[in-house]
Amino acid sequence: MEKSVAFVVGLGMFRQITKLASQDFKRHRIYNLMENVIILGTGCAGFTAAIYTARANLQPLVLEGDMPGGQLTTTSEVENFPGFPEGVDGYALMEDLRKQAARFGARYANDFIERVEFDGEVKRLHSAQNVYEAKSVIISTGASPRLLGIPGEREMFGGKGVTTCATCDGAFYRDMEVVVVGGGDSACEEALFLTRFCTKVSLIHRRDELRASRIMVERTLGHEKIEVVWNTVVEEVLADEDGLARGIRILNRETGDTEEIACKGVFVAIGHVPNTKPFEGVLELDENGYLSPAVGSMVKTSIAGVYVAGDCADHVYRQAITAAGMGCQAAIECERWLAEEG
Ligand SMILES: Cc1cc2nc3c(=O)[nH]c(=O)nc-3n(C[C@H](O)[C@H](O)[C@H](O)COP(=O)(O)OP(=O)(O)OC[C@H]3O[C@@H](n4cnc5c(N)ncnc54)[C@H](O)[C@@H]3O)c2cc1C
Repeated sequence: MEKSVAFVVGLGMFRQITKLASQDFKRHRIYNLMENVIILGTGCAGFTAAIYTARANLQPLVLEGDMPGGQLTTTSEVENFPGFPEGVDGYALMEDLRKQAARFGARYANDFIERVEFDGEVKRLHSAQNVYEAKSVIISTGASPRLLGIPGEREMFGGKGVTTCATCDGAFYRDMEVVVVGGGDSACEEALFLTRFCTKVSLIHRRDELRASRIMVERTLGHEKIEVVWNTVVEEVLADEDGLARGIRILNRETGDTEEIACKGVFVAIGHVPNTKPFEGVLELDENGYLSPAVGSMVKTSIAGVYVAGDCADHVYRQAITAAGMGCQAAIECERWLAEEG
């Protein structure tokens, strides 16, 4: 049975596409209009891929997922994205990227992909309600930083004292005391990086030894500005009268004692979860769940016409500009592939 449905398109334009109901997908709308390229995610990688593919006249369909604008919308000030000598608000930057891609014909839809089928010539993407079909796909679903889930953490996240990125936010804490929570390589790296700006770095670790590599442990324990607080968990991030972090309350797991540590910055460094569940069993993932690009490329996968970009495939750099760079690479590869094969 055929029935027309309105579909969200960029710049307020609407386009009619055909809805097909089939035996296999009774509950789903199937968008049988074959897209040239579907981009998953609207972080720095997704928007950059959208700008490039839109300018190549591919009219990309961009699915927003559960966090339109991606991680950068959670931070108030970005000082290291090229082109903004005074810094830029993370949310505003993402809005501008969205408009830039829409200007060239990128279309957006609010949908979250749960499952993919990449085995045939047609790539199928399933959300709870819809099935999308495309010749090619750029996956830029990002990664979510792990949080502690304690009072005060969310309230002060991104600009009010709690963050998950020393490279991004360390410079805001010049000449201040900060804490880093964690005990692995990332936590040690964050702590060491912060010693460049901060007067003191307390590393809060729940065990009695660090899980990091030997060299990182040696550097961390040997640094005069770093104090490791062992066998301790953070119970709460404490706010001052302006709602900014003023310290943390910690619990010693051995003695049961609690105490407060004064600090302006709380760097949670307990890892990231790549948003790659829909691709399990379809694409190659590494042991931590990150998408593994094909040998010799940062953005190609083992499946022709399927590309990866940004934090979902990069556990090393995890920066806005590196995600954008991968989005550009994926878009150019995709465009070339479509020109030859599509
Ligand atoms: C608090 C904070 C501050 C930061 N500050 C800086 C900074 O100052 N400078 C800097 O360079 N970097 C900073 N970063 C890091 C930067 O935000 C990330 O490196 C960058 O956002 C990664 O972009 P991305 O496009 O790969 O993914 P993300 O930004 O994570 O975006 C992922 C997108 O994918 C979508 N998505 C996820 N799953 C699905 C799905 N199944 N279907 C459809 N869509 C899906 C999401 O909705 C989202 O739109 C910061 C990060 C945080 C958390």
